[in-house]
Order: sequence, then C-alpha cells, then structure tokens
Amino acid sequence: MSVVPLGQSHACKMGGPVLRAVDRRIFSLRYFQNCMGCGFCHDACCQHGVDVDMENVERLKAAPQAFKALVGVPESEWFTGAVMADAEFSSGRHVRTQVRNGACVFRIPKGRGCLIHGFSLEAGLDYHALKPIVSVLFPLTFEQGVLVASDEVLDGTLVCSGEGPSCYDGARDELRYYFGDALVAELDALRDG
Ligand code: SF4
Repeated sequence: MSVVPLGQSHACKMGGPVLRAVDRRIFSLRYFQNCMGCGFCHDACCQHGVDVDMENVERLKAAPQAFKALVGVPESEWFTGAVMADAEFSSGRHVRTQVRNGACVFRIPKGRGCLIHGFSLEAGLDYHALKPIVSVLFPLTFEQGVLVASDEVLDGTLVCSGEGPSCYDGARDELRYYFGDALVAELDALRDG
C-alpha cells in the first residue's frame, strides 16, 4: 500500500486543498527539476494547460496591463469556458488554461518557461499570487486529499522523469510555502523513516 495517512490534516494557506494522506512513491520517483536548465524538454509539461482556481483567475485578470500585453491574446481566450466544481480548490471551482499553438496560453511563446512566473520575477512580485498552484507543485499534485505524483511521472511519460531529485525533494520548498512546516516535518520523517 503506497498511500499512507498523515498524522494530521494540512490545509493550504490559499484556502485549498487539505492534505490528509501521501503516496509514498513521491519519495522515490525522480525527475530533472532544473526546468530552465533543461535543453531537451521544450516545456513539454505545459503542452496540456493546467487547472486554475477561479480566485486565481480573478487575480490574473486583475494583473497589470504589462502582463496582459505579454500574453498577447484577449482575456476571453485565456481559459476554457467550462467551470468545474471541485472542492479541493479554494473557490470550489476551477477552469483550465487554453492551449494555443501546442502549449498553455501562458507559456512564453518564443522562449522557454512560464510567462506568469517570468513576469512575476521581473516585476518583483511573488509568483504564488498569480501562478496556478497545480503548476507550482508539479510534478506533485493532489487528489481527494492525497499528495501524489502527477500522472506523467507515474506512467513515465514526463520527458525528464527518471533521474535527479525525488519529486518530494524537488517540490519540498513549495510544499512548505503552501502548507507550512508541520507538513514538511511529517513528510521528512516518512522519507527518512
Ligand atoms: S501556467 Fe505556466 S507553468 Fe502552468 S502550464 Fe501554463 S505556462 Fe506552464
């Protein structure tokens, strides 16, 4: 049994999700991690877009005009129209980013990486405010309160999977940001136990 319960519930400070268990495979599955230092992936992990909480959508729509100019397409084309109910997201609902020219609408079109992340760093903003939590935690994700590796890692289709730090160690600092020290302490103990 690879899924084990956590000793307590850990709520994300954004308002969701709440983690109650972990799939131990996050401690052994590995990936390259240094995304911007990779010369072969061509941002393949961004090719399907990503689920975005509706509160995050509103923050993106309220972002400075300079950000909107960089995206280069109207706001009406940023997200799919289908709003999905999902209690794990802070607003209880999410949409998905549109795919344009084979990648998420927020991928830098003539370069590498995430435009939301790059813009935030350039502007001196905390990228967590604008970048979807699913993107920040990748290649970890959450399913029904369980912290798990993303499907692409589990099925081996993530182009950079196999070598490097574990999925947990790669995302450990981001887990601490969203869920706090107590979760990381619990996970460290499971990793080292
Ligand atoms: S939001 Fe950024 S990191 Fe997430 S899929 Fe889109 S381009 Fe990639």
